[in-house]
Amino acid sequence: MIPSASPSDQGPESPICSAKGCRAAAVWVLAWNNPKVHTPERRKTWLACDEHREHLSNFLGMRGFLKETVELEEWEARPDAG
Ligand SMILES: [Zn+2]
Repeated sequence: MIPSASPSDQGPESPICSAKGCRAAAVWVLAWNNPKVHTPERRKTWLACDEHREHLSNFLGMRGFLKETVELEEWEARPDAG
């Protein structure tokens, strides 16, 4: 347990950027798949703020893992999100 002064400031569903050390609100969802460990239809997701979207998508893209980049709002509106 990590002590927090205000544990209920934000709901548990406040998505933040997946970039290391970044606490910015996520705006983008990067959907990716590592064919060596995931079945083809499996989607792992990273969240990214505007600033880190390019960095994270380049990281995944270089490895051939990146499938799509979608706005968080749109991603969550999908019936099969998650
Ligand atoms: Zn970020």
